[in-house]
Amino acid sequence: MEGSFLQLDDRNAVAREKMVDQQIISRGVSDQSTLKAMRKVPRHLFVPKEYESEAYDDNPLPIGYGQTISQPYIVAYMTEVAEPDSSKTVLEIGTGSGYQAAVLAETAKSVYSIEIVPELAIESAERLKKLGYKNITVKYGDGYRGWREFSPFDIIIVTAAAEQIPQPLIDQLAENGRLVIPVGTPLAVQELILLIKKDGKIEKRRLAFVRFVPFKRL
Ligand code: SAH
Repeated sequence: MEGSFLQLDDRNAVAREKMVDQQIISRGVSDQSTLKAMRKVPRHLFVPKEYESEAYDDNPLPIGYGQTISQPYIVAYMTEVAEPDSSKTVLEIGTGSGYQAAVLAETAKSVYSIEIVPELAIESAERLKKLGYKNITVKYGDGYRGWREFSPFDIIIVTAAAEQIPQPLIDQLAENGRLVIPVGTPLAVQELILLIKKDGKIEKRRLAFVRFVPFKRL
């Protein structure tokens, strides 16, 4: 098009493409449905207005209440490791902005997400509704206990660092289910752990060193 100019939405789409190429594919994430979701979900609508221009940068951002939206690469990596597909039910602990929930909703059948800060639970539920996500259910509460009503879950993703893996989450994991959780001391270096339930037994893999906000209890 002659004299073409980019609309705001196009600019964000371009920023998103760049984010996926430079931050995510370049670091080894290759799952196509994860990459498709990262290209699609409008991350700039999940951050406070004053951070909108930084939404596609290579770092976490504050979302209020002392919490953060994770770095794009971490969201993509955790999604890929969880192996979502359109048959799977997901439990997320730590809704925060709702961004990871949206990425999961693009790749899985349904997402149940629990947030311990009531204001964030309300804001993210409204945001996700406005964006048209019908397969995400958000509730306020302490995710330690999981969400028995909708269990077992094929995937459980925890986005706050716990000192120990909550037993209720292990119990609510389906056979062949995958639980991804940062484990370690708050505000220190933590390890991202993958648990896989096989024949009722738990297989544990240590994935990477990470840094998440602390897992809280009510
Ligand atoms: N997945 C979020 C990341 C938010 S940071 C996103 O994409 O934006 C982690 C979130 O976990 C914070 O909002 C924090 O309030 C929440 N959290 C901490 N402990 C929790 C608990 N026990 N149950 C539920 N949410 C918890």
